[in-house]
Amino acid sequence: MADKSKGTVGQLLEFAGERRSLTIVGCALSALAMAVNMAPYVCIWLVIRDLVAVAPNWSAATNIAGYGWAAFGFAVGGIVVYFGALMCTHLAAFRTATNIRKRCMEHLSHAPLGYFDTHASGLLRRRIDGAAAQTETLLAHNLADITGTAAMFVTLLVLLFVFDWRMGVACMLAAVVSIGALFAMMGGKNAALMAEYYDALDRASKAGTEYVRGIPVVKVFQQTVYSFRAFKEAIDAYSQKASYYQGTVCKGPQAVNLTVTEGAFIFLVPAALLIAPGALASGNFAAFVTNFAFYAIFSAVLSTALAKIMFAAGGLTQAGDALKRINEVLDAPTLPVTKNPKVPANNSITFDEVTFAYEGAQKPALDHVSFAVVPGQTVALVGPSGGGKTTAASLIPRFWDVDEGMVRVGGVDVRDVDPHVLMDRVAFVFQNTRLFSASILDNVRAARPDATREQVLDALHDAQCEDILTKLPEGADTRIGSDGTYLSGGEQQRIALARAILKDAPIVVLDEATAFADPENEVLIQAAFARLMEGRTVVMIAHRLSTVVGADKIVVLDAGRVAEQGTHDELVAAQGLYARMWADYQTAAQWKIQKEVA
Ligand code: ADP
Ligand code: MG
Repeated sequence: MADKSKGTVGQLLEFAGERRSLTIVGCALSALAMAVNMAPYVCIWLVIRDLVAVAPNWSAATNIAGYGWAAFGFAVGGIVVYFGALMCTHLAAFRTATNIRKRCMEHLSHAPLGYFDTHASGLLRRRIDGAAAQTETLLAHNLADITGTAAMFVTLLVLLFVFDWRMGVACMLAAVVSIGALFAMMGGKNAALMAEYYDALDRASKAGTEYVRGIPVVKVFQQTVYSFRAFKEAIDAYSQKASYYQGTVCKGPQAVNLTVTEGAFIFLVPAALLIAPGALASGNFAAFVTNFAFYAIFSAVLSTALAKIMFAAGGLTQAGDALKRINEVLDAPTLPVTKNPKVPANNSITFDEVTFAYEGAQKPALDHVSFAVVPGQTVALVGPSGGGKTTAASLIPRFWDVDEGMVRVGGVDVRDVDPHVLMDRVAFVFQNTRLFSASILDNVRAARPDATREQVLDALHDAQCEDILTKLPEGADTRIGSDGTYLSGGEQQRIALARAILKDAPIVVLDEATAFADPENEVLIQAAFARLMEGRTVVMIAHRLSTVVGADKIVVLDAGRVAEQGTHDELVAAQGLYARMWADYQTAAQWKIQKEVA
């Protein structure tokens, strides 16, 4: 992770690796280019000086062509050096962006699987890509421009003494006022205001994404746009912040800034008017005119340089903003990997006083949960929605690590098992399975990359996917997501089941919910489930009690605690929560049958 005690630039340069020095070389070249770029103005000054000296006998000025060529040479030289500078800074900037992407991806590969439930991978990718690209302007252009402008001020200070210091000070004054105005807008307490302004912008854009995602809901339920209160509030907050910051805080200083940068000569002209009478009296009028001409031309350079500083300030804010988002990714939790891995003795699963709370949650999702699964048996987790079934199941393949207590597989704490060994031993099928946009064959093969085509096809067969394969134009080789080959929720779930079957892990953790499935799919999915569970140790989140009756053990989770556990008959006899759920279920089933008969 980047060392946050360093400033934005320092942290970004850390990502540049060995190309870091290229940034420094680039900045130095940019400074040199700025100095070289000023040489033509000196040449012009020399031309004016010679012309004024011989006036009106112009032909006596013999050196003018030489000065002209020199000016041309310096101008071209300046461009070449600046080009070189940008080449260096760009090389460093591109490497930095690449390294940021790599570091984020590297880090995320160690994040717990559960992290991706709450942080959609597509969003993460866009966020990393966007932030990495956003740092580029600063590193490739702004830094070089800042050092260039600094070099220009130093050169200006030197020239100040070489020519007429009074007019030099007048030019300098414009720069000082402009920088003062920039500070008034962005420095001190306004820095916080500006941060709030960017924050509000960020929130508005996030709320916008949510809004677009919710459009189907709005349409289906015939709601008005006003039901998206969060979006409207985010826009209102942004517009309030924007009009306050831009309208109240920036209006004055920005007017001053633009005035002095666009007309850097505004202090020069009064200064010249003050100096002129003295110069006339002392007979130095020719030198005065020459110097005035020099500074008048020079103030134009100043304008460009000051404008660049303003963009640079914007670049710095943007890069800081990007860095914040990058650090958020790099702050994602990682799953610790044990140094002394132990091998599970068998396929038993034990929950031992397990307590777990999601980040930021008020109360734990699991509160001192204990139960055991004997190898080869099927244990069903049941209970009201929000009871903690999904959470408990996801602790077995280490989607998250427990806060207290222990989850053991084969007698070994899952945190002491090598992650690869654990993944080989546990197959899981949760509701939100995602398929890659690859062929069905490759999607299934992901579970076991060395599987042969026959083995994959067998798994698809066992998962009852035949109808899907015959329907698709290229069978198992059809790419999912391309050319309108989309699969229904139930079909996707069967492909996911084929994956788990191919994996052939001795322990299976599955969520049997078939919320998206139509009756036809449901029958097939049940058959696939049965095939997957054959001869394995199973922890199943059961939603329909009909599938639970045959389980070796039922664990009833209510509000994060084990309300009761036992076989179906034991629990019905106990007259507790399960007995009530069973009674409700039977009533509902009867009702359904009566309806169908009628
Ligand atoms: P069940 O599967 O029994 O419906 P869950 O395990 O999904 O229950 O949820 C248990 C509790 O944890 C609930 O209060 C739920 O709101 C909360 N919860 C579930 N997933 C998350 C998450 N990713 N982040 C925060 N809280 C969560
Ligand atoms: Mg659930």
